[in-house]
Amino acid sequence: MGSGCTFGVVTRFPEHVRAFAPAFWEVKDVGGARRDPVPGSIPMVSCFADNRTAKAHPDWVQVGPGGERATRDQPYFDWDCLCPSRPEVEELALGWVREALEQSGSRSFRLDDVTFAREGYCRCPACEEAASRKGLDWETYRLHRLEEFVRRCRPLVADTLYFTLYPDPYPGHLERRFGIDVDRLKKWVDVFVVPIYDLAYSTTYWLEVLAQGFRDRLGGHPWFLELYGLGVELERLVKAARVGAAYADGILVAYERDEERLRRVAEAVGR
Ligand SMILES: [Zn+2]
Repeated sequence: MGSGCTFGVVTRFPEHVRAFAPAFWEVKDVGGARRDPVPGSIPMVSCFADNRTAKAHPDWVQVGPGGERATRDQPYFDWDCLCPSRPEVEELALGWVREALEQSGSRSFRLDDVTFAREGYCRCPACEEAASRKGLDWETYRLHRLEEFVRRCRPLVADTLYFTLYPDPYPGHLERRFGIDVDRLKKWVDVFVVPIYDLAYSTTYWLEVLAQGFRDRLGGHPWFLELYGLGVELERLVKAARVGAAYADGILVAYERDEERLRRVAEAVGR
């Protein structure tokens, strides 16, 4: 099982970047914090989630159907979501992408949080105005807007463009909930990355259901399954990786500190 399956990491340790490829490095996170990229890593940037920018520019935050704002003040949200229709937000996000690529020297890149906050978002004046200007109904406009952003990022990335997806393979869900049209994005994205996190992986049937769902949903387009590694019992992490490797083109382990444990998982999936 798993022969030919890529193994990589999402890490905060430069030594892991030297030991594993691909090694993803979070250059800008949802809080708005920046970390200088490490040479050899693939930069990840959270594009439309940014608490710092939301605080500085409250009018750039996504707005729900009842006028509610997509911030952590609401119980549902863990971070603040910026509106992709705002030209200022798009310029900011494209600037983060360019800067991370320049600083890292990487030819590949991973887009994170390119998404509307959830179903019903965003109803801000910029979205309403843009939808009517383009003559699109609101649902179609959302799909169009995010695709357009990815299309603009594409020429900045010389090699592989990775794109993070929320782990719901059910047909129609990513479209309705987040404004993400996976089929259209295939044109620009080389590899989708699906984080399916658990703190223990004590059972794996659900992981297998989701992994199989994504394999079917993506119809042969390359995708990597990302597992959470920190504090997970090695035997269980290995089992989860093996289950995933039967369906995904690559396995990533995120945030694990111990290089030896990472090697054991890599060997288990055939690398
Ligand atoms: Zn909006």
